[in-house]
Amino acid sequence: MISPENMDRCLQYFTSIPHVASSPRNNQLAEYVLEEWKKWGLDDVHLVPYDVLLSFPEKIDIELLSPQRYTLKLREQSYDEDPDTSRKDVGLPYNAYSRSGDITASLVYANSGNPQDYDYLEKKGIDIKGKIALVRYSAPYSYRGFKAYTAEKRGLAALLIYSDPKEDGCAKGPVFPHGPWGPISHIQRGGIPYDFLYPGDPLTPEWASNPGCRRISHEEALSLPKIVSVPISAQDALPLLKAMDGEKAPPEWEGVLPVTYRLEGTQTLVHMKVEMKDPIKRIFDVVGHINGTDKAEEVVVVGNHRDAWVFGGYDPSSGTACLMELVHAFAEARKAGYKPRRTVVFASWDAEEFTLTGSTEWGEGNHEHLKKNLIAYLNVDSSASGKNFSVQAVPCLFPLIKQALVEVRDPATGKTVYECWKSGPKEKGTISIASGSGTIGAIGSGTDHAVFLNHIGAPALDMTFSGDYGVYHSMYDNYYWMSHFGDPGMLYTAALARICAHMVIELASNPLLPLDYETHARELKGYLEEWADRYDPTRKRSQNLFLLLEEMGKRASVLTPYILGKEGATVKISDEEIQEANRLFIQVERDFTIAEGIPGRSWFKHLVFGARYSYDVLLFPALTEASEAGDEKGIDQAVKHLEESVKKATSKLMKISELIDRDKKKTYH
Ligand SMILES: [Zn+2]
Repeated sequence: MISPENMDRCLQYFTSIPHVASSPRNNQLAEYVLEEWKKWGLDDVHLVPYDVLLSFPEKIDIELLSPQRYTLKLREQSYDEDPDTSRKDVGLPYNAYSRSGDITASLVYANSGNPQDYDYLEKKGIDIKGKIALVRYSAPYSYRGFKAYTAEKRGLAALLIYSDPKEDGCAKGPVFPHGPWGPISHIQRGGIPYDFLYPGDPLTPEWASNPGCRRISHEEALSLPKIVSVPISAQDALPLLKAMDGEKAPPEWEGVLPVTYRLEGTQTLVHMKVEMKDPIKRIFDVVGHINGTDKAEEVVVVGNHRDAWVFGGYDPSSGTACLMELVHAFAEARKAGYKPRRTVVFASWDAEEFTLTGSTEWGEGNHEHLKKNLIAYLNVDSSASGKNFSVQAVPCLFPLIKQALVEVRDPATGKTVYECWKSGPKEKGTISIASGSGTIGAIGSGTDHAVFLNHIGAPALDMTFSGDYGVYHSMYDNYYWMSHFGDPGMLYTAALARICAHMVIELASNPLLPLDYETHARELKGYLEEWADRYDPTRKRSQNLFLLLEEMGKRASVLTPYILGKEGATVKISDEEIQEANRLFIQVERDFTIAEGIPGRSWFKHLVFGARYSYDVLLFPALTEASEAGDEKGIDQAVKHLEESVKKATSKLMKISELIDRDKKKTYH
């Protein structure tokens, strides 16, 4: 039922006009989604409004005053091949939640703008206080909000972030409009809020921004930056780099622009005038259901964000096309007689680009219900920029993922996606887990799954088909880019929708929930080994936790044959007992959360899955951060919390086996 042609039409429609959150066009698209879902026959389709703090530029002027004059263009070049690039309604590139400011200062070049980069400059005797730092979006990747946070903490006056062609431009291959990489003038827009402290509306931490709700002040909002930051192109960075006269930068700091990269510009003077406004604006999530027949309160949620920095080709409209066609297919399937036991919730989130806002507010607003009833959250931020299947997930979902990949064909080769994935390139730059098949990345942050996983403690995944993509958050990420490079014909977007459909059907209709805590326990042991090799080589501190995880895996292994078909279909117990087993299954992941959250970041409740300030995956966040800080009490506390979690989870798994594995239960008592 999934049609690539429908998806292509959908992509054209969603990418036809820029649609940043709260713009008339993005709100119109919310209405459009609402009407389509109603027309297709979804249950309870509604708009969910939130009033949230957004951030827009009034005026941004940047000029190099000395040693020569250069006014930064701060604009991306248009191309005749793609009329969209000449549109007048492409907004000014900016960093959402930058402060306003009028600053005149000299430049330093700080590589990626990470703490070790400033350490290096200071070691070289360079005074960075009050300067303007020019930094790269680069590998190793760090979230731009972390660059802003670091610059603020280090006392810089302002930040300019540019994309060096070494990372995503001509050094990689042909550039737009002739190839998928970014041309010299492309600019990566993006938010810089400190959402590693808490995402969502900065003024409503942990509660929903319902119209008329209580708000904290800007000063109290820890996620709001206090520094001026502007994203610029390599084209605008070049004259700034040329104007520098300091010591040569080390080779790892060099990009590929035709200039000697230097650490500072002693003669430089740059004037930045940045006027921002931070209005409270209304945004709209769109939510629709296919109600379950048995356990309607239990939900599987599938989401994608709708808002885009500009046209949003790959990010997010390819994902939106995937979501829309998925909804369409499920609605058609229901007309043809398909009835899920549990409710499937489809969500078109708003304002993800700002700070995961729409999904976070919805998750916070429905916290109690979701805590009890959310089975899993499946995220498709963007569906296809190439042919390599890529997924980050909580390990109890690994078997579900594998099964879906076996069911779906790779459009280019006709082999199963599973076969291609197994032999395909392994992801770099993330901690990856050898799951005995392909590589499933441990799940971090940066998109709409955060509230469901990190805050509520539900199993979650984010998936895509990835490929060469150098136009992230620029105006070139549009229909032209998608139809020439990302996914011509939408074949991979269709494959992703099929994969997602298989997962939804299993989660919503399998009598027993397909959550595999044997794999989960094994992977957690793997994470713990990584930690222990580094911080507890004698295993003195972690020995007990290892034993508990071993026990958890053993208990869960009794259930494995019943998960995902096979013996699952032959479980001969009453419906009530199955339902009781499933209620327990839903709570197992919650056992790994604590109400007070991890130290210093109370919004983040999950003890296993967190994210670093840089957005890197952070496993056992409380334990790892305490270990890195040499905080002995913190380590003991974190180990204790984890032990309690594993014990709670294990006792639930034992109760489940008592319910469904009557013949064998004696063996385990
Ligand atoms: Zn996105």
